[in-house]
Amino acid sequence: MSRFLNDRLASLEAYTPGEQPQDKAYIKLNTNESPFPPSKSVLSAVNRAAAKRLRLYCDPECKVLTNSLAKLYGVESKNIFLSNGSDDILNFAFMAYGDMGAIFPDITYGFYKVFAELHGVNTEIIPLCDDFSIDSDAFMGKNKLIVIANPNAPTGMALALDTIEEIVKSNPDGVVLIDEAYVDFGGESCVNLTKKYDNLLCVGTFSKSRSMAGARLGFAVASDALISDLEKIKYSTNPYNINTLTQLAGAAAVRDNDYYMNNCQKIIKNREYTVNELEKLGFTVLPSSANFVFAKSDKISGKELYLKLKEKGVLIRHFEKDRIKDFNRITIGSAKEMRIFIQKTKEILGEF
Ligand code: PMP
Repeated sequence: MSRFLNDRLASLEAYTPGEQPQDKAYIKLNTNESPFPPSKSVLSAVNRAAAKRLRLYCDPECKVLTNSLAKLYGVESKNIFLSNGSDDILNFAFMAYGDMGAIFPDITYGFYKVFAELHGVNTEIIPLCDDFSIDSDAFMGKNKLIVIANPNAPTGMALALDTIEEIVKSNPDGVVLIDEAYVDFGGESCVNLTKKYDNLLCVGTFSKSRSMAGARLGFAVASDALISDLEKIKYSTNPYNINTLTQLAGAAAVRDNDYYMNNCQKIIKNREYTVNELEKLGFTVLPSSANFVFAKSDKISGKELYLKLKEKGVLIRHFEKDRIKDFNRITIGSAKEMRIFIQKTKEILGEF
């Protein structure tokens, strides 16, 4: 760090992304990516002709992609905002609405805390209940920036849509951001509620169910007014934040929606297999509506299991945080990957 960095940034604890090791080929069950390739239309959209267009600036309005996404979700184009991954939108939301203070659970997506600190936002942290569900009552009537991942990460547990609506209704003077990064794997989306409530900001991503983590594409669905706030920030920072290839790939992915939704069904099936097998091995597994499970064993610590699996070429995610350090988050991959993961876990437990 240089001696010139602003004080607030000097003390900032940055987000630690999951490992992306390049040394050897791991079975990667650590960053909730999809095991399935992008659809055929996506692969052909990102072609030589498309690469030649990189000479020109991309469309800052992302018109084609915005219109197709609006059609898919049954909203108007003016109610869609696109950005460079959903992290970008979360960042914008803390920037835009942080003055009212923010409130989110103690165990949730780690970036919320970082964005709050980055923008000097006061936070109220609500502990999860003992069963790791979100204490929804604690979010009622706060009128702050409420940030809830639904399903939550890293627990995978989801809140019912009725509960989300209650939270939105009880906070008419606060923005309620529902982060739906994992909604396609069994959660209930609040997209339709955005037509009814002008304070609801529904955020989604192409990184998980749509196999496009490396392309960086996130979206928000919300009232015209909230969308124009986000546009204002985008046009005050980087209007070209979604490159040409990502715009083309995104529009193609929307055309192939059935392919992706079918893949989600496969993930759900693989999740059932994984949960079953882990439970047979004596693991406690939280009920997941996401493309990962959060599990702990009383035979081996979370950290040890993570390290031993890594030695055997399987990466899972361990969080060194008090309340959850016994657990690991395991991304649900292909059927074959999950069989190998279970096999290696059995081998490790056999050693103990
Ligand atoms: N929200 C949650 C809950 C996540 O786990 C992630 C992925 N790390 C994101 C948002 C960000 O996803 P992306 O920026 O790839 O859209």
